[in-house]
Amino acid sequence: MHYWNGEHHEGRGAPFTLTNPATGEATGEYALADAADVRDAVAAAKAAYPGFKALTPGEGAAPQRRHAPAHENRSPHLPARGKQQTGKSIRLATEFDVPGSIDNARFFAGAARALTGLSAGTYWEQSTSMIRREPLGVIGSIAPWNYPLQMAAWKILPAVAAGNTIVLKTSEMTPGTSLILAEAATAAGFPPGVINVIAGDGKEAGETLVTHPDVVMTSFTGSTPVGRRIMELAAAKGSRVHLELGGKAPLVVFADADIEAAARGAVAGSLINSGQDCTAATRAIVAAEHFEAFTDRVAELMDGVRLGDPAVPATDMGSLISLTHRDRVAAMVARAGDTGATIRTGGEIPTTNHLGEELPGTPETTAYYAPTLITGIDTDAEVWRDEIFGPVLVAVPFDTDDEAIALANDTPYGLAASAWTRSTNRTLRAAADIEAGCVWINEHIPIVSDMPHGGYKASGFGKDMSQYSFDEYTQIKHVFIDQHEDPHHAWQDTIFTT
Ligand code: NAD
Repeated sequence: MHYWNGEHHEGRGAPFTLTNPATGEATGEYALADAADVRDAVAAAKAAYPGFKALTPGEGAAPQRRHAPAHENRSPHLPARGKQQTGKSIRLATEFDVPGSIDNARFFAGAARALTGLSAGTYWEQSTSMIRREPLGVIGSIAPWNYPLQMAAWKILPAVAAGNTIVLKTSEMTPGTSLILAEAATAAGFPPGVINVIAGDGKEAGETLVTHPDVVMTSFTGSTPVGRRIMELAAAKGSRVHLELGGKAPLVVFADADIEAAARGAVAGSLINSGQDCTAATRAIVAAEHFEAFTDRVAELMDGVRLGDPAVPATDMGSLISLTHRDRVAAMVARAGDTGATIRTGGEIPTTNHLGEELPGTPETTAYYAPTLITGIDTDAEVWRDEIFGPVLVAVPFDTDDEAIALANDTPYGLAASAWTRSTNRTLRAAADIEAGCVWINEHIPIVSDMPHGGYKASGFGKDMSQYSFDEYTQIKHVFIDQHEDPHHAWQDTIFTT
């Protein structure tokens, strides 16, 4: 279950049982990586670094170029592994996760060969200055369980494109697809030790990786509280962090919006990956005149979403990641109901889908939760303020555009947002005034390898994907070359004049 130095390794930590949360079946058992395993993986990455760093961009890009097809060759195995460990629908795994990660590999294969920057030139008398963009060293990356394959691609590919070596710690619940990505990298010709993957818990494996003296940067995706802990640990040794944290994305439906398009976008945007998506639409902010029509349509569409075994292609939505997480989501919705919110649809742990088909297992063994729409809340409600990370959309009405923008920004988070309008002015205003790392207009969710993904405010800093992400994994060196023939340099007169 762990992969370093181009080889598989058994862990030396506690035993861990992998469970399919959509069927309740135990799908495997392995030993977690312990601190010694993390140190071995870092040692492999450290040993591989000097040789890998010395490659020209063209030489380094060669395995990157071969990585995409090697990864693609393994793609038939990926959706099954993905849905087995996360409970996500096979359609989402096949049509979103796998092609997205392959396209990432294609993008980063070219990234190192098209660098731009300041020109070399004379910026000080009789000298030439130039910039070198260099890798950092050994990167420690930590990923969450929600999109294990895409998160591995987002972390590993830009880091190695920039000439670093990497140890990725996956969530202990979802090691499968990241290991396949690492195996594909070896098959593509990456030298052993460049890409290393371990699966372990946060406290032992995660903290050992962050605090390891040879790890020069921690690139983390996960919750805001853990991100803050990582920042604290990295601060103690003064190393870099790149944090992709939680979200609470608004979806603003202006008075001139296409209500049918907005309702469909809201349902897809809130239910993607069973709502376990950091950019998922979670707060619908709707022009009062359309509030009823919009929420009616959202409830109707949610009621038609087919829950079921993720392995069945007709299934729209699988389970959540675990019983513990499902119970946390259910408790938040129940508390909203207890404090007077209207649960327009959902709000329950279902045993059948809308067609009356039995869901696999029982509520004690499988982690399904019904698509849920909540209205009638105040904006100090927990479900408005806190990340739920489940298939739950909360909707509130607004009267003026100023109020809509204020509500959109009424959150500590700032990862993503959408605005729905036919007006050019509203489009441009939403783009400028909503505080988020991504603002979609008349859509919610699309992500592409060429464009950056990353947060504002408590959603973190640093970008995944795109050339911006490549830059995150580099450092800039100014090289100054003196060209005086004469040992006397004018500026030195400010220090001594003999
Ligand atoms: P999490 O923060 O609980 O865990 C994320 C990773 O951190 C896991 O690998 C975990 O083992 C590790 N970890 C936990 N404690 C640690 C510690 N003390 N030191 C080092 N590592 C530690 O998050 P999760 O529940 O796995 O994922 C859901 C969260 O991730 C949500 O908040 C979601 O918004 C966020 N997320 C953000 C993005 C983004 O791009 N911004 C993408 C996906 C998920």
